Amino acid sequence: MNSATQIDFRRTPFLSRPAQKLFIGGRWVEAEDGATLPTMNPSDGSELAQIARGTSADVDRAVAAARAAFDGPWRRVKPGERQALMLRLADLVEQHIDELAWLDTLEMGAPIARLPAMRRRSPSVIRYYAGLTTALHGDVIDNSVPGEVLSYTAREPIGVVGAIIPWNAPLGAALIKLAPCLATGCTLVLKPAEEASLSTLRLIELLEEAGLPEGVVNVVTGTGPEAGAALAAHMDVDKVAFTGSSETGRRVVEASMGNLKRLSLELGGKSPDIVFADADLDRAVAGASMAVFGNTGQVCSAGTRLFVQEDIFEDFVERVVDFSRALRVGPGHDPQTQIGPIASERQMKRVLDYLDVGTAEGAELRLGGGRMASPAHEAGYFVEPTVFGGVRDDMRIVREEIFGPVVAAIPFKDEEEVVRRANATVFGLGAGVWTENLGRAHRMARAIRAGSVWINAYQLMDPAVPMGGFRQSGYGRESGAEHLDEFLETKSVWIDMTS
Ligand code: NAD
Repeated sequence: MNSATQIDFRRTPFLSRPAQKLFIGGRWVEAEDGATLPTMNPSDGSELAQIARGTSADVDRAVAAARAAFDGPWRRVKPGERQALMLRLADLVEQHIDELAWLDTLEMGAPIARLPAMRRRSPSVIRYYAGLTTALHGDVIDNSVPGEVLSYTAREPIGVVGAIIPWNAPLGAALIKLAPCLATGCTLVLKPAEEASLSTLRLIELLEEAGLPEGVVNVVTGTGPEAGAALAAHMDVDKVAFTGSSETGRRVVEASMGNLKRLSLELGGKSPDIVFADADLDRAVAGASMAVFGNTGQVCSAGTRLFVQEDIFEDFVERVVDFSRALRVGPGHDPQTQIGPIASERQMKRVLDYLDVGTAEGAELRLGGGRMASPAHEAGYFVEPTVFGGVRDDMRIVREEIFGPVVAAIPFKDEEEVVRRANATVFGLGAGVWTENLGRAHRMARAIRAGSVWINAYQLMDPAVPMGGFRQSGYGRESGAEHLDEFLETKSVWIDMTS
């Protein structure tokens, strides 16, 4: 272990429990029918733990607890007290971040080498929203209604929030739903992904230790079609904050119709990463490679369509291939690992299917193209970093989200052409532009239809900077102050002052 990873949490007491429970109304309870399901370590295919398999009956219990808390004492808790609770939680997350990061590593394979980044980032999300908690207020509005009339607005919590999150960054996904809920005074029923629930459950233990009042946050683990669908359709949930695939996002929209609940959707992408011939190519090679292979390509805004200006196309792609071939692919717990396994067997099969599709469509393999074959990799869900060339814009591997370590390299001639082709997608989550020309950088930032555009960088994130999608990448923004709007209603109050 290097200094970033002094303790190996593979045998943490948390993992030696026979089964993990649901957290409802301030108590750890089994699913009503006692069912559990296994969660696996994708680095070696072994069973890691059993989690409770919650159903609609458990979702009913959790929503009732969240409603009781919302209508009860939680409404009277002042912003300053919520802020203090969040700051205590941030301290506890900071103290226990190694264990939380290890749980994600063991359960979905993310390299433990990212621990320093998690140490920086995880508490800062909570502290950012804690800071905004006491800054939330409405306005006094001077209006043109005749007479002595005063109008003001109040910002009120939306109510009971159902949050449904994916497995690709489990702790981060839980925190970015939890923090705004606590900041705005909402209550929460959280449904983690069945592939990666453990860090969320441990986080909730820390939240208890921080002094969480009963019912304010509840967790129902289980499958999407059971627990997730029940939460999305629940008539007493005021809002669903969903992060996941666009396909599931559509189901969530349909399920929301019964009570017209509010929705925010953070969905998939097929983001362009555009390299101009005038770029700093050394930076661009590493940046463009990690833009797609970081987290094994399981990033919603991964730069999966690599547009390279035609004069440098062959050289640049060769350099990306050389860089990516040298990346160390291995088990998440090995501190030397740069690229971990795919998070689940199901997802690995999906990615491998896409590799077949690409070849069948006539794309040329420049690197990778299959499952890692060495004895060290064969038990885990490892897929080779893969670079396709010779692609057409109508190929499925260019249009559809693969969510694995697969990039399509595409030559282009000029700005006008690349803007048109980069925007020819149903998604609009992220985009990268590599150029040393300042005017071009700004023109591109303006022309690309996406929620985040990174210039000479990729995947920079910060709790203060909004992130979200145009088009079918979703609605709403996460991170930043405007994220809080998604959890608030505005009430206008009118007072006739003549009496
Ligand atoms: P998924 O849609 O399969 O699952 C996401 C969550 O939805 C899980 O908790 C799952 O159990 C639940 N779910 C499944 N079916 C459901 C249903 N019918 N009703 C309600 N809930 C249901 O996605 P995934 O495979 O876990 O995650 C990968 C996807 O997430 C990718 O498409 C990726 O782009 C997207 N993602 C987006 C962002 C973003 O910020 N835009 C961030 C991370 C991941």
